[in-house]
Amino acid sequence: MARKRQALRCGARRSNGQPCRAYAITGGRVCRVHGGGAPQVRRMARIRSIGGPLWPAVDRGLDRQRRETLDWQVSRVLAAACRFGISPEQVTAGDILVCVLDGLVPGEAAMPALRVDGRYGPRSRRQLATRAARQAERRAAS
Ligand SMILES: [Zn+2]
Repeated sequence: MARKRQALRCGARRSNGQPCRAYAITGGRVCRVHGGGAPQVRRMARIRSIGGPLWPAVDRGLDRQRRETLDWQVSRVLAAACRFGISPEQVTAGDILVCVLDGLVPGEAAMPALRVDGRYGPRSRRQLATRAARQAERRAAS
């Protein structure tokens, strides 16, 4: 999902009383001339602009962690069963559930960690320029 340019215009007024109407900085409500260049304004705008698209990524990360944890727990129980000479076919879903609920799954520290898709993080102007150049190269090649 690409980050779209916001269409929000600056809400400040010019010295002649007319609204400014220039594009606001990303995540902000004012343009660069009307306070959008100030470090504290830019910082808050940046937090706002990455905070929104970050939450769905965190949700997806949590879902994926839940799925991976279950797969991981099942594989650990089956591996433990093999070690005790029990074939995997003899292990029922109930056995696995009991092991998980009783906290008998070994090596909890090795459980899958929460991973959040890095694409939603902040991008520097240089990164964006590099990506644009690479896309142009690809377009020229094909
Ligand atoms: Zn303005």
